[in-house]
Amino acid sequence: MKIATIGSHSALQILKGAKEEGFGTIAICEKGREKLYQRYKVADEIILVDKYSDIINQQDRLKDAILIPHGTLVASVDLDELTVPVFGSKECMKKEASRKKQQEWFKRAGIRVPKEYAPEKIDRLSIAKFPGARGGKGYFLCRNKKEFEAKGKKLLKEGMLTKKDLENAFIQEYIIGVNFYITYFNSPLTGEVELFGMDRRYETNVDGLARIPAKDQEGISPSYVVVGNTPVVARESLLDKVFEIGESIAKAEPGMVGPFCLETMCTDSMEFVAFEISARIVAGTNLYTQGSPYSYLQYGPGMSMGRRIAMEIRKAIEQDKLDKVIS
Ligand code: AMP
Repeated sequence: MKIATIGSHSALQILKGAKEEGFGTIAICEKGREKLYQRYKVADEIILVDKYSDIINQQDRLKDAILIPHGTLVASVDLDELTVPVFGSKECMKKEASRKKQQEWFKRAGIRVPKEYAPEKIDRLSIAKFPGARGGKGYFLCRNKKEFEAKGKKLLKEGMLTKKDLENAFIQEYIIGVNFYITYFNSPLTGEVELFGMDRRYETNVDGLARIPAKDQEGISPSYVVVGNTPVVARESLLDKVFEIGESIAKAEPGMVGPFCLETMCTDSMEFVAFEISARIVAGTNLYTQGSPYSYLQYGPGMSMGRRIAMEIRKAIEQDKLDKVIS
């Protein structure tokens, strides 16, 4: 059995972890992007494609392999067209594309989410977000309908947003607090939700604004383009809550398998407010190729998320339960 993934996002640790658990590895790379995977010698085989979505027509090259999904796969391939076994639940991963389905999931899990507004109803500091994987580009803050329209118009003029984007704006109450992006692993083999790690996204330019005196910030709008991640741990007294929200998310979607991430803000009343979910490995786990503070407590040194995925597959094979971890 081999483990395959698309050469992007978190592929280095996925392939490295697969090797550590004894699997052969395949990286599917866009031509010109294979060098990184050769450099680190994590792929036994490299399949070159012109664009990632071409993998759909070349699945015969993935015989005897399990495909590990990550953000690039979810964004570039129609999951329904994959016939090769995929680690995790495709149904859950598809919810990522729908803010509505995510909000329903949070509600079923009983987790607080930011209030949502139609433009005419905005009555407090809010953030306007737009569909598609644009990584926070074009997001803006507004306090009422007038501001929403004025800022939207400006960005339309600058070509940052289209009319359709503005019609489909997703407007949320802006939560004041600090970010925690929390990653868990839901194991169908043990029935447990493990806490894997936490990170903060390093977002430009919003994380740079604080370096400029307020009087010089005039005219600079914050943007939220993720360019990196930094590690964070929560104070120990918050960890019970962290487990509770992860467990309720898993309970609300019993088919979910493997890694998932909750994007949260922790407020000064120590409440976690969730604004997005990913039902697959997230790039924030790249911080912890040697293991995280929490995986260390559970497994000792060296348990990356990539390795944790491969370990689940290995154990599922040993226990003749592979069907429980793939879709
Ligand atoms: P998203 O596209 O939902 O991942 O949002 C990108 C970034 O915008 C997040 O990482 C946060 O920094 C910020 N953000 C999104 N939604 C909110 C919110 N409701 N309140 C405060 N900040 C937010």
